[in-house]
Amino acid sequence: MDFALQAALDERALSHLYRKRLTHAGPQKPFLQVGGEPLLAFCSNDYLGLAADPQVVSALTKAAHEYGCGGGASHLVCGHSQAHHQLEEELAEFTGRERALLFSNGYMANMGVITALTHASDAIFQDKLNHASLIDGGLLSRAKFNRYPHLNYDLLEKRLMQSEANRKLVVSDGVFSMDGDTADINCLSHVCQSHNAWLMIDDAHGFGCLGENGGGVSELYGASQENVPILIGTLGKAFGTSGAFVVGSNALIETLIQFARTYIYTTSLSPAIAEATRVSLSLIQTEGWRRQQLRALIAYFKNGCQALNLPLMPSSTPIQPLHVGCSQQALKISDALRKKGMLVTAIRPPTVPDGQSRLRVTLTALHDFTHLDQLLDALSDLGSLFVEPMEREL
Ligand code: PMP
Repeated sequence: MDFALQAALDERALSHLYRKRLTHAGPQKPFLQVGGEPLLAFCSNDYLGLAADPQVVSALTKAAHEYGCGGGASHLVCGHSQAHHQLEEELAEFTGRERALLFSNGYMANMGVITALTHASDAIFQDKLNHASLIDGGLLSRAKFNRYPHLNYDLLEKRLMQSEANRKLVVSDGVFSMDGDTADINCLSHVCQSHNAWLMIDDAHGFGCLGENGGGVSELYGASQENVPILIGTLGKAFGTSGAFVVGSNALIETLIQFARTYIYTTSLSPAIAEATRVSLSLIQTEGWRRQQLRALIAYFKNGCQALNLPLMPSSTPIQPLHVGCSQQALKISDALRKKGMLVTAIRPPTVPDGQSRLRVTLTALHDFTHLDQLLDALSDLGSLFVEPMEREL
């Protein structure tokens, strides 16, 4: 067995696609301690800097004393605590939806929702750049599975018109995780309503960051429950904890409780995490300075990259990727930044399409302008590495 496994591993390494984990000590902060060395990190999804916020941490420890550490059982057995229940009510209110349902993580929420809502006689339509968990949910369901080109809503509409499926489910990221651009929720909602399709938006990267109150793409576009009937958020990013939620109508939530296998057959999220998340939800709403700081940092970074003529991809979110193309080259730049004391992840296939490797720079409210100056100086030194090898030889 090991021989066959090793051959596949060697092949992955040869094509510069081998993935390695990085072990760090201490909390999520702009500087991560890696092997005793502080590295300035631009790769965390802790966009608002809440993962190590003292108020969130103290809510977690207090709740651990009250509830213990683990959920103890699945929600439907005896794992549904008052902490879960209150968080669900607060999330429903925050998002202006009838009800909310917690899942243990976003991957399971997406798989569970898609498979609970669709059957063999149905069809699912997904943006080509959707997150792996949405794609996997689509593959696992027995429905007909279509993928439309990124943000191409004309083609989506044509395919919806041609479809004779019983239920039609359109699924899109709100903010695309590796590109940082956003779905046009108004357009998607209009197309779905015109063709009797249900719209599901996974706003894992938008909640907390976008909209005046951090309500994500749904708030940004003023989309109600009617416009986006199935809305997903994750708690491991801007909320700084872990887990996920689905918000929508009472009928949607009851359907998920009855039929979503990834909800039914798994241990509930730690109740202490639920209590900590209640505090981060309140900070998301009350501490608007975190979003203001993010917006200022995004503008500063974009200006800096433009001045250096760096291949910044179009995004106005904290995800600011720099296009490289070749995987080997992306790794080379990431390694060179590491030598300069900075962590920026090289994102390669299959996470992104072939030939579209990139450096995924993510910003958090805890960064400051001096951190960005350090990154921009380093990128300026490495600027020639962003040119495709063919062009460099010319
Ligand atoms: N959806 C999107 C768009 C994501 O980027 C991610 C995680 N990177 C998930 C879902 C999965 O969320 P979780 O980490 O909570 O499993």
